[in-house]
Amino acid sequence: MSKDKSPAKLLEEKLIPKPKHAGLLLTSNELDNSHAFSERYKCFLNAAKTERESVKFTVEEAKKHGFVEFTDGLKLQTGMKIYRTNRGKSALFAVIGKEDISRGVNLIAAHIDCPRIDLKQHPLYEEREIAYFKTHYYGGIKKYQWTAIPLSLHGVIIKKDGETIEVNIGERDDEPCFVISDLLPHLSGEQNKRTLNEGIKGEELNLIIGSMPFVDDEISNKVKLNIANILFEKYGIVEQDFVSAELEIVPAFKARDVGFDRSMVGGYGHDDRVCAYTAFEGILETENPERTAICILTDKEETGSDGNTGLKAAYLRYFIADIADSFGVKYRTVLERTRCLSADVNAAFDPTFPDVVEKGNASYINYGLVMTKYTGSRGKAGTSDCSAEFIGVVRKLFEDNNILYQTGELGKVDFGGGGTVAAYLANLGMDVLDIGVPVISMHSPFELVAKTDVYETYKGFKAFYNA
Ligand code: MN
Ligand code: MN
Repeated sequence: MSKDKSPAKLLEEKLIPKPKHAGLLLTSNELDNSHAFSERYKCFLNAAKTERESVKFTVEEAKKHGFVEFTDGLKLQTGMKIYRTNRGKSALFAVIGKEDISRGVNLIAAHIDCPRIDLKQHPLYEEREIAYFKTHYYGGIKKYQWTAIPLSLHGVIIKKDGETIEVNIGERDDEPCFVISDLLPHLSGEQNKRTLNEGIKGEELNLIIGSMPFVDDEISNKVKLNIANILFEKYGIVEQDFVSAELEIVPAFKARDVGFDRSMVGGYGHDDRVCAYTAFEGILETENPERTAICILTDKEETGSDGNTGLKAAYLRYFIADIADSFGVKYRTVLERTRCLSADVNAAFDPTFPDVVEKGNASYINYGLVMTKYTGSRGKAGTSDCSAEFIGVVRKLFEDNNILYQTGELGKVDFGGGGTVAAYLANLGMDVLDIGVPVISMHSPFELVAKTDVYETYKGFKAFYNA
């Protein structure tokens, strides 16, 4: 028999309740659900490693769930499910709600571009009878992490006649992969004196793609010609076709369970496909919501959201404007009354590197989805800083729906920082709060998340669409 709790103990439980690990809070049924959800999530991670592949995957799934393309003149009605894509690199999904659209919509925005390495426009060259692709990295990577691991190549090549060649090579076990070399430790004396940031330099990220010569006595770059010939036979392309190509180098390995207890998922691109997938699954399962629910999966977040597929572009506004038009409502009225979750990951506390966060305000794996009031760097520069009122609305929603949440910030004050798309959405007049999954080893080729956090995020997003 347990002793009666002291008045002080009871008071503490009432006034200063301690956060609890999801493993102690969730029922065994919920834990099973989190494992099952992660199985589906891993399939998404393995099938969609780029923004283009993510758009394809989600649009196909959406169509199976009754979403139809939002074409010009389509008359919208309550309960309808629509989608639109933007240049194959971003996608929007909506379920039309019962409430008058002039009262705003519930929007979740996640990004589907991930840190990676792109090919340059003249990538193919040969050096000492090894063939290479020249590259330019995309987003914030620690360059040394991308050497000596199997890499695959994804993207498109547009030929002179306009034909699109899709490339996806290096994922299957029976396909070749590629690699960026690093120096052996025996000869790294000079390299070891470089700072970690310069350990591998940008122009050293050269992708090895072949080593056999084209058998001929007359020409000089025999290995390059041999690779060019293989590329011509496989894809029907010539060297000049790389000028109009977008080819991305990503880790070739699959997402996998991590830990004896299988409590975590390791994989490439959790930032931000873990929020994209949870936000997308949430809207797939949303039927006849009160307010219109919208999910946007955007591109170019990792490079600052510029460009016509990034969130600073007009396409989200146009999508909402076209929905508003269909109901004869001004779109600015809808924007100003829109509630938005900017769905992006946050840095989880990593006990191996405890000094970069302030422990009382960091996020932790297995403690649920993370609410981040503000991002930015130094004195919150570049943040949208969500209002207390809107956090109050979201927090109540999560508590009413038994969704495990915590708060987070991106490191100690003045230790660095970063941003999300929240500020660009807030600039449109919406209420915006950053919500996401805590991640360990963010922006590395093999990022780590906890299954319970992924599942709580999905539940949180679903509750938000239906609020
Ligand atoms: Mn992100
Ligand atoms: Mn990122």
